[in-house]
Amino acid sequence: MVHTLLLNPGTRPIAWASWQELVVLHCRGLIHQSLGEVVFRVHGGYSRESGARSVMDIPSIAVVSEARHPGDRVPLPRRENRELYRRDRWTCLYCGGHFERRELSRDHVHPLSRGGEDRWENVATACRRCNRIKGGRTPEEARMPLLAVPYPPVHAEWMVLTGRDIRGDQMEILRAHLPRSSPLRGIRPRVA
Ligand SMILES: [Zn+2]
Repeated sequence: MVHTLLLNPGTRPIAWASWQELVVLHCRGLIHQSLGEVVFRVHGGYSRESGARSVMDIPSIAVVSEARHPGDRVPLPRRENRELYRRDRWTCLYCGGHFERRELSRDHVHPLSRGGEDRWENVATACRRCNRIKGGRTPEEARMPLLAVPYPPVHAEWMVLTGRDIRGDQMEILRAHLPRSSPLRGIRPRVA
């Protein structure tokens, strides 16, 4: 199910919303404008007076009248690695191999045991084998150079990383907010 991309009044992407969340926002009068295409039609109850059934069209993009301004820094989930693997495109940053989720792990470039921090800049996707070989060493010590520099995603990058089945019209807006150097610029939307 496609999620709706929510923009603040300054048309900055702020969050994804399910259709149920969108119905709630609509009922609270918080939807300022619907953009993009209708992705889903919700049928509500029948009116007692007219007998007509209420209908709500769920748009791919909606401007909410809420002046929420997302912070620029995105927290790194403590346990869940989905976003980390997505950032690194399911590629081990040591051997360059593509792996399934269960074969991947979170590697601390500078090991935790030696004062390394659990931060975006210090974590890399590693296949279990590379992680085991590297052990408690730095890439230099293990002679395992990183294939890419681990970066902290900005909010728009986070939106791309957490989006499910991102549509073309949504990606167009997100791309406009990605840093020029973002490796996520090249991501192809799931739905054209
Ligand atoms: Zn590897």
